[in-house]
Amino acid sequence: MAIIVQKYGGTSVGTPDRIRAVASRIVAAKEAGASIVAVVSAMGDVTDELVALAAAVDPEPPEREMDMLLATGEQVSIALLAMAIHALGHEAISFTGPQVGIVTDHGHTKAKILEVRADRVRDALDAGRIVIVAGFQGTTADGAITTLGRGGSDTTAVAVAAGVGAAVCEIYTDVDGVYTADPRVVPSARKIDEISYEEMLELAASGAGVLNLRSVEFARNHGVAVHCRSSFTDAPGTLVKEVDGSMEQAIISGVAYDASEAKVTIRDVPDRPGVAATVFTRMADANVNVDMIIQNVSEAGTTDISFTVPETDLTRARRTAAAVVAELCARDFTVDESIAKVSLVGAGMKTHPGVAAQMFRALSDAGVNIDLISTSTIRVTCVVDGDQVHTAVRALHDSFGLESAEVTTDSVPGCGEGER
Ligand code: ASP
Ligand code: MG
Repeated sequence: MAIIVQKYGGTSVGTPDRIRAVASRIVAAKEAGASIVAVVSAMGDVTDELVALAAAVDPEPPEREMDMLLATGEQVSIALLAMAIHALGHEAISFTGPQVGIVTDHGHTKAKILEVRADRVRDALDAGRIVIVAGFQGTTADGAITTLGRGGSDTTAVAVAAGVGAAVCEIYTDVDGVYTADPRVVPSARKIDEISYEEMLELAASGAGVLNLRSVEFARNHGVAVHCRSSFTDAPGTLVKEVDGSMEQAIISGVAYDASEAKVTIRDVPDRPGVAATVFTRMADANVNVDMIIQNVSEAGTTDISFTVPETDLTRARRTAAAVVAELCARDFTVDESIAKVSLVGAGMKTHPGVAAQMFRALSDAGVNIDLISTSTIRVTCVVDGDQVHTAVRALHDSFGLESAEVTTDSVPGCGEGER
């Protein structure tokens, strides 16, 4: 019997009514002949409330205790969902992450999954039960509860899907798929039917909130097909999978933005070998996730190094920057929290020159100033003023004609077929 893993996010299980609706959906899938594993998040805003509770007693709570606290959210929803399925006359059994053998490293609050010992899930499925698994949590080999980072339930779902050899991992959420841009910002944004892991990774890394970045990485590394869809309708959503050569590739698949980062600049650091290594080793040791890095042109033997970090890491980044300034005899450091990133993603960029130029032109025509730029083979990201980021997203969506399925690039000479 085919195994389907279904993941339901916090909104989908936010109230008792919604939990009952999810239970009905699960039962329907089971009655249609599949073995079902459901992975669930904490109800509604419970995780945020737990974070606020922790902050109210300790501004910098120990991460081990943070995990102990946050893991309770999912334990509530798995039990309630199993009960709701029971009330429909079906057999369900709930498990915490540690109980199903989700073994992680010791990186409390952003632990990485090392292994999924899925025997317990398989045994329960073989016994004809519906299995409910708590998302977002695991255990270290020596038994400490860990969590996988905010939004980590997606990763649990994909890891469990890989562990039990599921046919598909369905991620149910409150939107009906991945869009060419956030529909709240761009009303004409279009749902994407199919997208490659590579493009989805870039979109997720650039702030598209639909799928958690690490879950997409995990899916790509283990070849898990992910179907991202709405828990409120039956309409198909977006399929994330390996793209075979026959699939027509759009030049640009979407525009994403992220206002949750801040820019740190360390000013007048000595321009000699080892300085960047020191800065970023200290940041890594302080568990600060550094994203974009720009080193300015050197003048009179010193230079400025700017980089972006998630605002959630900012307390640690500031403390570390202060220590680095002292260690390297730099002038000082500054922090700008008002920045935002806007990114254009598309596999066709590899074979179509001129995309970056068109992007910069569109931003300039919209009066948006570019602060930092970074690129990958299939992405161009600009850091802009946070107040202008919606204008930037709309300008790019419009310039590249993303509202229609035929993507247009005005300045771009045709360059034959994409190669992938
Ligand atoms: N409940 C966790 C969070 O809010 C995990 C998740 O929802 O995926 O981040
Ligand atoms: Mg910001």
